[in-house]
Amino acid sequence: MQNKLSDIKHLSIQDLRQVISNLGEPAYRARQIHQWLFSHRAATFEEMTTISLELRNKLADRFRIGFPILADCQQDVNADDPSPTVKMLLELDDNEKIETVLIPSENRMTACISSQVGCPLQCRFCASGQAGFKRNLTADEIIDQVFTLNDFIRTRSESKEITNIVFMGMGEPLLNFDNVKESIDTLSDQSYKFNLPQRKITISTVGIIPGINELASSGLKTKLAVSLHSASQKIRESLMPVAREFSLTQLRKTLSEYTSQTGEPVTLVYMLLKGINDSVEDARLLVKFSRSFLCKINLIDYNSIINMEFKSVLNETKDMFIQHILDAGIHVTVRKSYGASINAACGQLAAKGVKKAENHNNL
Ligand code: SF4
Repeated sequence: MQNKLSDIKHLSIQDLRQVISNLGEPAYRARQIHQWLFSHRAATFEEMTTISLELRNKLADRFRIGFPILADCQQDVNADDPSPTVKMLLELDDNEKIETVLIPSENRMTACISSQVGCPLQCRFCASGQAGFKRNLTADEIIDQVFTLNDFIRTRSESKEITNIVFMGMGEPLLNFDNVKESIDTLSDQSYKFNLPQRKITISTVGIIPGINELASSGLKTKLAVSLHSASQKIRESLMPVAREFSLTQLRKTLSEYTSQTGEPVTLVYMLLKGINDSVEDARLLVKFSRSFLCKINLIDYNSIINMEFKSVLNETKDMFIQHILDAGIHVTVRKSYGASINAACGQLAAKGVKKAENHNNL
């Protein structure tokens, strides 16, 4: 069996420094190699012309440079939009698959990216949770999602590129904080060819309290979104098992401290589910929860998945909910359900991939 070299891109910057030190090279070489990998996006060691031939040969003997493979790409063909939502399924070097989504809008090109293969948290409405957890993504696997989407945009338009990143794909980013942070440090490095201001990057969590505290003291200037989905402890627990570990009372206190420490508002994401969290009482509880810290509310439609038990709400219900929030003087936005025809919600394309594989195995 051929011995597959390990991928140098999977090394953290600290590990890369250690490798360079072990090879007897000065520490600044690690930074140079990192730049070749993530700024110039070198595909071979020969391209790294600022590095001695001897070192390039040593690296090539020990490592390879890997890239994800595009396993599937679906566009939202039913939308009238000339720039439809695009969902990609990327295959990693251990054959695991992750999804990444491009969401174009009037002034933005948003990359919705994954942080884990699957997810351990098993929210009832989510395909990633249903598919189970495989592993954390490495920083480069997170970064390559953005690069892949950027390459795709360039095939359509030379002048456009990713303007925003949201960690709202598969996985809970605050359960993979070190790699998520390293990917953000690279994606926002102003000396690299592709770089975004950190304020254009949003980390979305279900409310992992230690992770929110870590984020608050990390020095990152990213935005924070919290998937609330109910301000009733009982309903939230029934939707999101993680709510049993991190209660709404604890979450409110943590978000209050987060906004005081960072001076930044939190976006509370609330997915309206017919007959579950869409009553007047639910709206009242949401307003009460939101009053104690700096926040805005983002209401989203549920994007139904085949065989899933939830349904999206009627427009009248949504209007009532919005009015209740507005009457309380809280900022609210309503997000349309992107890419319904391609199942563009967290985990849905990957879940289809899993289903395909299972069906295949059953043949
Ligand atoms: S909604 Fe997010 S946290 Fe919940 S199971 Fe899905 S990926 Fe995990």
